[in-house]
Amino acid sequence: TVDRLSDLEKLSVLGHGSSGTVYKVRHLRTSSLFALKVLRFGPNAADARRQAAREADILTRVDSPLVVLCHGVLEGSGDDHLCLVMEYMAGGSLHDVLRARRRLPEGLIAGVARRVLEGLRYLHGMGVVHRDIKPSNLLIGSHGEVKIADFGASRVVAAAAAVGPAAGGGDDACAGTCAYMSPERFDSEGFGDGGGFAGDVWALGVVLLECFVGRFPLVEAGERPDWATLIFVVCFGGPPAVPDAASPEFRSFLGRCLEKDWRKRGTVGELLSHPFVAKCCSTEGLVDDTFYI
Ligand code: ATP
Ligand code: MG
Repeated sequence: TVDRLSDLEKLSVLGHGSSGTVYKVRHLRTSSLFALKVLRFGPNAADARRQAAREADILTRVDSPLVVLCHGVLEGSGDDHLCLVMEYMAGGSLHDVLRARRRLPEGLIAGVARRVLEGLRYLHGMGVVHRDIKPSNLLIGSHGEVKIADFGASRVVAAAAAVGPAAGGGDDACAGTCAYMSPERFDSEGFGDGGGFAGDVWALGVVLLECFVGRFPLVEAGERPDWATLIFVVCFGGPPAVPDAASPEFRSFLGRCLEKDWRKRGTVGELLSHPFVAKCCSTEGLVDDTFYI
């Protein structure tokens, strides 16, 4: 574990999110690379801060090659931020990959599906519902291995931002956090009475469809996925349209993920034995620069 910020040398900025900034850093003594996520809190956010610390505590207990590991939780100077020392993922996020390649072939999409389902099986087995599965939270290692990042933490920090004085507009906050939400999560009831696990499966379905069509698939090209549009499409619309070019296996798989009634939706266990992911499923091509479609 890394226990002091002063042991780390800042190398570059890896990205910005709603909760803060992620830096590439080097541990001075061992020369190991890490990603340092700096979560910033507004003033008067003590509760949110404690809640984030508890989430960070869950992060440090997670231990699986399917999940981006957290090697330490560090307090910054002052109590307005918290730093998470994370495993460095050299391939960036699936969001970065999609920006570069736009679309992925079905073979790679099946590989992503399999890895994320295995990661969800692990997390759900620990009683952890991710609640924020989206391309920027699926990170890629140097050999193309896909891992789940940011479970829980981003939700808590987003809630903190919404009550703080520096809160952004409701619709802006939504654009980043609710685009992959399942129909039952738009309900005032919350996550349905199944504990919310099915919501992670819906989000995975949206992500995989996005990999196939090359853009966020639930709204028209160029349209903003704001709260009102999403309620209309996700809650009141028909099942999301899948292009004719998709294979029958992929179509059937997406149909099970994007089933609107969470009680009838495919479970992680069922989907892991679906023919779409049961065949090959390597994700090495995600970091192969010569491979573009
Ligand atoms: P949100 O705040 O809604 O979660 P986000 O996922 O884009 O959005 P962050 O989780 O702060 O925000 O991450 C910002 C970016 O930093 C990611 O999109 C990714 O490109 C990069 N990143 C995050 N964690 C790592 C990591 N462990 N290794 C390499 N890059 C990372
Ligand atoms: Mg993230």
